[in-house]
Parts: sequence; structure tokens; C-alpha cells
Amino acid sequence: MDRIRIGLVGIGKIARDQHLPALNQGGDFDLAATASRNGRVDGVEAHETVDALIAARPDIAAISLCTPPAGRFEQAMAAIAAGRHVMLEKPPAATVSEAEALAEAARAKGVTLFATWHSREAAEVDAARGWLADKAIRAVRIMWREDIRQWHPGQDWILAPGGFGVFDPGINALSIATRILPDPLVVLSAELAIPENRACPIAATIAMRCGTAPVAVDFDFLQTGDQTWDIEVDTDAGTLYLRNGGSRLELPGAEPMQGPNAEYPRLYARFAELIRNGESDVDLRPLRLVADAFLTGQPTPAPAFEF
Ligand code: NAP
Repeated sequence: MDRIRIGLVGIGKIARDQHLPALNQGGDFDLAATASRNGRVDGVEAHETVDALIAARPDIAAISLCTPPAGRFEQAMAAIAAGRHVMLEKPPAATVSEAEALAEAARAKGVTLFATWHSREAAEVDAARGWLADKAIRAVRIMWREDIRQWHPGQDWILAPGGFGVFDPGINALSIATRILPDPLVVLSAELAIPENRACPIAATIAMRCGTAPVAVDFDFLQTGDQTWDIEVDTDAGTLYLRNGGSRLELPGAEPMQGPNAEYPRLYARFAELIRNGESDVDLRPLRLVADAFLTGQPTPAPAFEF
């Protein structure tokens, strides 16, 4: 099939770290233009807004949005209304209702909407899912602790309303958990530590259930030194350890497995496949769990935070 011209929107950290390298690997897409208020990519036609890109380039069939979640809804709606296929960074929108409206708009327009969850493409997630499929789950522990200053330097938006706070990385853990665990996750309660000068949590604990098994979730944005992106699942056949964001798997009685990182090339290959098949992929379960944590969450004051 013909190659697909794509526009990349929001030229910030993740666009540069992951999207550009993935697009430059020579998959199904040709990067034809960018839209960003300040960011530019050398040698690529640049626009300041999605609307300008859409108006200038009717030949661009697909748009990939790497802007923060708050404000992405209008950009995605404009692209869908113009008949373009749309790929969304995670979290897919600032609210569940926005994400559902995008899915409905894409359906009505007959274009592809792909709400990506890059952590689901980590090397050992599928193997973990396969191993758990026929096990009885006894307990689950999810620990996602990283250094906000290292991974989100100066990103004030992440602690502003609609920025998700520690749930911005935490939703990656929930995207893996909803993929590998055989039963739905249900939120029971949450505690949200919110800095006195910010709107969103800098740390959170959530109590959930998976079937009858307790699920303990610990998210922290202030971990320095070693970073922790681990999920542990106690089963009737021993404990599964999925570490390093899904890239390392330790199973009872087996050598650890660790595959290479190909998360973003896999996302773009899937986007091309969805476009070819005339399909969308919008799984909002991780976003709903975050919304439920905010709905049930007990706020607790935390010291002011500055980058
Ligand atoms: P970022 O570095 O702040 O980049 C986002 C870019 O979007 C900015 O550089 C900015 O470019 C543009 N933008 C448009 N409206 C904006 C607004 N109201 N506030 C701030 N920037 C705005 O953020 P990022 O880390 O790339 O994250 C973007 C998305 O990728 C988020 O949904 C995040 O969850 C996801 N993500 C991030 C990482 C990571 O490690 N950082 C990993 C995976 C996924 P202009 O100024 O040029 O418009």
C-alpha cells in the first residue's frame, strides 16, 4: 500500500525522544509537516497550529498528537473533522468524556482514531499476559516511582489542572495492568498528596481489586536514584515480576526475560495497520481508573513543589 503522509503536533520531549526516531526508522509513514508554537524539526515544513497544518496540507492523511492532554481535544477534533486519521499520545484526553466524544466523532467521520498506550508495547508485556491467563490471581502490587525532575523537566502543565500529576506516568502502569490481568480492575479508595502550590497529585496510593484479589498501587514522582516501574502478581503458581516498565519478566523457576525497546515503532506499525483496515483502537480503561481515583481520592496536603 502507498506510504502515508503524517503530521506531527507538539514538538516537545516525547516527540523528539521517541516519535521522530520511530518515524525515521522507515516504517509506513513519511513525516510531511509539524505543528508546534515553538518547536521545529530541521528540514521539515513547520506550522504553528494544527488548523494551519490542516489548511495547508490536504495531502496529509494522518496526524499524531504529542501535546499535553489538556487542549489536545480541540486539536484532535479539528483533525477528525478534516477527515484525517488521528493518533493520540497517552493519556488520550484530559477527561473520559472528551475521549469518548473523540471516539464517536471518528466513528461518524469514518476515520481511524488510535488512543496509544506505549507501555503496552514494552517487550515482555505480552508474555506476562500469556502466563497470567490461566492463573488464579491472589494479590497485585503496582509500584511506579520516578523522578519528575529527570523525566518531565520544567513541565509545569503536568501539575496543573488536567495535567494528571503523578498519574501521567502512573497511567502507564494501569495500561499494562489492564492488559495483563485477566479480570477487570475496580477502584476502592485513593489518597492523593497534592503540593500546596499545585493542582495535581505528586504522589498517590490506590486500593483496587482484581476479581477478589487486592491490588495495592503506589505512585511517586519524587523518587531519586534508582527508578521503579514494577508490577508484582502473586498467583497460585508463584509470583510474576514485571519490571522496568514491562521490559523485564521474571517467572517462577525460569531465567529472567528481557527484550529490546521497540515501543514507538510498534505503535506506528499498529497505527498504519488500523488505517489500512479502516478500524479504530480506543481502550479507555486506564483513563477511567485514573478518573475513579480522582473521584474517590482523599486529598492530603504536601509541601510546595518547584522544578
Ligand atoms: P512537553 O515536553 O511539554 O512537550 C509537549 C509540547 O506540546 C510542548 O513542547 C509544546 O510545544 C506543545 N504544547 C502545546 N500546547 C501546550 C501547552 N498548553 N502546554 C505545554 N506545551 C504545549 O511534554 P512531553 O513530555 O513531550 O509530553 C507530551 C505528551 O507525551 C504527554 O501526554 C505525556 O504524557 C506523553 N509522554 C511523555 C513521556 C515523557 O517521558 N516525557 C513519555 C511518554 C509519553 P510548543 O511550545 O512548540 O507548542
